[in-house]
Amino acid sequence: MKHSSTASNPSDIIRPEILALKAYHVPPATGMVKLDAMENPYALPQALQNEISSLAADAPINRYPDPNAADLKAALRETLAIPDQMEVMLGNGSDEIIQIVAMATARPGAVVMSVEPAFVMFRMIATFANMQYTGVPLTADFALDLDAMLEAIVHHQPAVIFLAYPNNPTGNLFDEHAILKIIEATPGIVVVDEAYHAFADASVMDRLADYPNLLLMRTLSKLGLAGLRLGLLIGRPAWLTEFEKLRLPYNVNVLTQHVTQTVLRHMDVLLDQASQIKTERARMLAQLGALGALEVFPSDANFILFRVDNATDIFGKLKQQGILIKNLDRTHALLDNCLRVTVGTPGENTQFVTVLKTLLSE
Ligand SMILES: *Cc1c(COP(=O)(O)O)cnc(C)c1O
Repeated sequence: MKHSSTASNPSDIIRPEILALKAYHVPPATGMVKLDAMENPYALPQALQNEISSLAADAPINRYPDPNAADLKAALRETLAIPDQMEVMLGNGSDEIIQIVAMATARPGAVVMSVEPAFVMFRMIATFANMQYTGVPLTADFALDLDAMLEAIVHHQPAVIFLAYPNNPTGNLFDEHAILKIIEATPGIVVVDEAYHAFADASVMDRLADYPNLLLMRTLSKLGLAGLRLGLLIGRPAWLTEFEKLRLPYNVNVLTQHVTQTVLRHMDVLLDQASQIKTERARMLAQLGALGALEVFPSDANFILFRVDNATDIFGKLKQQGILIKNLDRTHALLDNCLRVTVGTPGENTQFVTVLKTLLSE
């Protein structure tokens, strides 16, 4: 029998800001040309796949994984050239790292700051953690508005600033000098999110030693291991010691630990694939640029943002033809009529450009 004081309504118990949220939506993509999620479109070579098969078969899945993932961390340090004096924390994807940073800094009234448009998880996770969020608009060409950022820093005194470098969903690298000014001006920490590092020739890794409030986040997702879920936070031991306290003990599972270590021994494979993606990016940028009917934005990532009349209509028609990209129209004033396409295989990209061209000439 139900007790009369038992909560029956989620709205009696769940925080209002959670009730107001919409869950992060991932559209179904079965059978589609999937160009919506910045995934690497290439499979691993057969020999490496076979190596992974036997690794998975032999993995001690009855045991908890190494809670510190020591071997994997050592491999990552070497492969990513992480400075010796910096500490590393691993996350179940970098999304989890954003969450850990937010939980650790969520003092009453604490503010998370980023730019707008930015990676949506910065805002969502700030809300999860009961933090205030402030997004400072980028300029019309998606550059950092340094004056506005500096003013917002003085006004909001953010505990954390997240900057994706290159930025998602715009694809560009911000001016490094402006980022450094922001790091110098803020009373809190700055997490530079280099999810697209493999496709850009820039990193703040070398700056870590100079800026005590700088942290660097990376992920293997965009490089080709999205399904394994592995992200990294790199920074001074003093910060990482605190964040580690919030990391759940076995957040990186045994298959991810073993498979990633093996793939890291063949890093050249992933880097070759990234370089193919960069070649395709250049080809797509040229082809889209030549279409005239649309505005294409430069990209240092594995996706391209473009603006076209009736974007939502074009998005729907592409989908009808089996091509899934991302519709950003009406998600932010600066993204009016904007669509984002992930760079796929040459065949997928040609199919996308061909269908788009037909739609535009209708
Ligand atoms: C995709 C993406 C992430 C998330 O990466 P995971 O490691 O897969 O959680 C983080 N930041 C930005 C900017 C991204 O675009």
